[in-house]
Amino acid sequence: MKIALLSIGDELLCGETVDTNAAQIAARLYDCGLEVNRQMTVGDQPTAIADALAALANDHATIIATGGLGPTSDDVTAEAAATATGDSLVRNEAAHAHLVAFLRSRGREPFPQNEKQAFLPSRATVIPNPTGTACGFRTLLGSCHLYVLPGVPSEMRPMVEKSVIPAVRERAGQPMLLRTRVLTVFGISEAQVGQLLSDLALDGIRIAYCVQFPLIQVRLRLTASPESGAAALDTAAEMVRSRLGDAIVAEDHDTMETVVARLLDERGLNVDVAESCSGGLLAKHLTDISGSSSYMLAGVVAYANDAKSRLLGVPAELIERHGAVSEEVASAMAEGVRRTVASDLALAVTGIAGPTGGTDDKPVGTVFLSLCDHNGCRVRELHLSGSREQVRVATTYHALDWLRRHLLASDAGDRGRSRP
Ligand code: AMP
Ligand code: MG
Repeated sequence: MKIALLSIGDELLCGETVDTNAAQIAARLYDCGLEVNRQMTVGDQPTAIADALAALANDHATIIATGGLGPTSDDVTAEAAATATGDSLVRNEAAHAHLVAFLRSRGREPFPQNEKQAFLPSRATVIPNPTGTACGFRTLLGSCHLYVLPGVPSEMRPMVEKSVIPAVRERAGQPMLLRTRVLTVFGISEAQVGQLLSDLALDGIRIAYCVQFPLIQVRLRLTASPESGAAALDTAAEMVRSRLGDAIVAEDHDTMETVVARLLDERGLNVDVAESCSGGLLAKHLTDISGSSSYMLAGVVAYANDAKSRLLGVPAELIERHGAVSEEVASAMAEGVRRTVASDLALAVTGIAGPTGGTDDKPVGTVFLSLCDHNGCRVRELHLSGSREQVRVATTYHALDWLRRHLLASDAGDRGRSRP
């Protein structure tokens, strides 16, 4: 069954309000095995709404429209729907009774403007609204079933749940099997990911790439009959894994953070961080998950040189000789925090996030990471680009990814023993 969503409101067209209704309805339908074929947005003009309804009704079996059922002069959806169906707009007694009862239950009387909300196309049936004055309605546009709901998200949602989804499901018969598998990638560019997967032969599966800087999500979408099962999706995910290898940091509902947390917990290891240019962002990501105190002991933001010496024991002459953004200082920061907190692992970050502070030797985006364990410290030098925010975010993910790879390479149960 082809389904279209129509969002109505000038505020959506001018970008004042983000259209969350369409996203929420589409997601709920998807969960029920019902796919949306088209989404359209129009302003609050009766002809624009009527034209959109007529056009969508031509090639869709269902339209779910939201917005424009309020009491003010810019709410014209019922009038437009009546034009599209060729009906007159008449006072609907059920809608009127609801309006009066709803307001009285809150100790209010209807304003003359509220009366407007009871006028619906003559052949329309009311869709109850348990949380607001405006009833929705359903009617036929030729053979297309039209459901019209208020735009207020908190009113729309229960109406979709209680009235629209059951009705659409009943008409749809056997729903399709819709499943999505998400593979989150870090460390290679979108173009590289596309190249690596370009000749993948995926049967009955659509592939989409979604950048969530600095991560890239590869989304595999299956649309199949229930009989053909979800095996095709597992096969496709396996093919993607074989191409992208350990650049895949997480799958489905997992994130870089939950994966790192699980690896630390499985290995019984804990970590702490010493940060300069990332300003606490790494500690923030490591503590995003409830219960993170089981693996995250402490984070120190040592931004000024003097703080690096006093809080982390970085020798002042080391900073003097090599600069605060250097391999040596990154290691000394990691060693310092690991010694002070007595952790298994320590990560340190020092770099130039910009936009000022770069030099010929060390331009903006130069970052040193250090990872220390009982075997000592290793350092990585990064050359990142972008805004201050992007450098800080990318730095944080490089550090998390290094930790992830380090943990994957060490066996579970391999605890740090010989602490200095
Ligand atoms: P309406 O039913 O057109 O009077 O809409 C009432 C309010 O609901 C608007 O002022 C918006 O704040 C909100 N709204 C309407 N349509 C949407 C939409 N598609 N997504 C999110 N919010 C919306
Ligand atoms: Mg509106």
